[in-house]
Amino acid sequence: MWRGAVGNLLRGRGAGSPRAASASAAAQLRRRLESELEDIRGAGTWKSERIIASRQGPHLRLAGGGAGILNFCANNYLGLSSHPEVIRASVEALEKFGAGLSSVRFICGTQSIHKDLEEKIACFHQREDAILYASCFDANAGIFEALLSPEDAVLSDELNHASIIDGIRLCKANKYRYKHMDMQDLEAKLQDAQKHHLRLIATDGAFSMDGDIAPLREICQLAQKYDALVFIDECHATGFLGPNGRGTDELLGVMDKVTIINSTLGKALGGAAGGYTTGPKPLIDLLRQRSRPYLFSNSLPPAVVGCASKALDLLMESNAIAQSMAAKTQRFRSKMTAAGFAISGKDHPICPVMLGDARLATVMAEDMLNRGIYVIGFSYPVVPKGKARIRVQISAVHSDEDIDRCVDAFTQVGRKHGALP
Ligand code: PLP
Repeated sequence: MWRGAVGNLLRGRGAGSPRAASASAAAQLRRRLESELEDIRGAGTWKSERIIASRQGPHLRLAGGGAGILNFCANNYLGLSSHPEVIRASVEALEKFGAGLSSVRFICGTQSIHKDLEEKIACFHQREDAILYASCFDANAGIFEALLSPEDAVLSDELNHASIIDGIRLCKANKYRYKHMDMQDLEAKLQDAQKHHLRLIATDGAFSMDGDIAPLREICQLAQKYDALVFIDECHATGFLGPNGRGTDELLGVMDKVTIINSTLGKALGGAAGGYTTGPKPLIDLLRQRSRPYLFSNSLPPAVVGCASKALDLLMESNAIAQSMAAKTQRFRSKMTAAGFAISGKDHPICPVMLGDARLATVMAEDMLNRGIYVIGFSYPVVPKGKARIRVQISAVHSDEDIDRCVDAFTQVGRKHGALP
């Protein structure tokens, strides 16, 4: 759009006029942007996007050809993104409640389905109340500033998701960053933070780059010892970790010790969009009054609410889908390990195939696609230097044959490029 604005400015300019000044500012901006883009390309960190011409699912069609691609890089852990009942519920909500609210929640943007979904989320997590956001990024951006004062402290795992880091940046509390899952370091920081009023420990429940799970039992013990609250981001856990898919807190038996949960509707829970906070009722009440991404952004569209609501119904009826995903995860992890690959994390459907070398990860991922398997290589700065990997994500809708095809392709490609003997 600014290209048009610049064009108009250039056409209308006269030497020395304010218009000429802004035209030259626009030209300067263009040069700066082009140079930054060149730097990104030069650093080899350019992120390109593949265009999918089908629904999200285990088998994709890519734009411009590429049908029948086996997909192993979506957060569609339970395969609900294209589940027929989820789609039907979404269409029904669209027809009954319209395309959107054209409003924020507190003006005229709250429908009965928003309240129902909030109630369902709170019930699913066994908490007092819940509040919806347009995304979990927004939920993370909105919580710390609303909750913490300059007299308080927040202690955050160094590998927490970018949205937690940004949310913490926005608040005025005293900030501590502890080493990844390092309980000694967390304890030292908690001791220092005793001088502050309130202490909040913030961690991802499951970390998306490594597929590792936060040591929540130990974190909760430290929280008890040093009188701190615990916040977890459950984007890569809600719906499938724990005996009933409630998440990391259920898996590790600390549901009653974690005070606040933020999570997403955009991954396992139907995969459309949206996020939420669930926890004590006064906290949720306060967020409705103070949380800026909630107060100043549009309500979730009914079709999106319909998807998430049906996804939760399916998960509350039975945990068969989550169990099917866990069995496939186990199949992939054990077959890949037997083939000679190192897979990071344990029992999580995020299965990072550790390769070390950035070029090797890129070349192998490309070669996998040549064999019809869509996986993505990650290297520095997304992961530490020397720890490049291909991240594979398992879904309940992968068949055993899909998993075996993926392992076979990895084995061939690994041998070809020297990752395996
Ligand atoms: N937190 C974590 C750990 C995530 O992985 C993500 C998504 O990538 C988010 C928050 C943001 O979630 P959403 O896509 O709902 O904004």
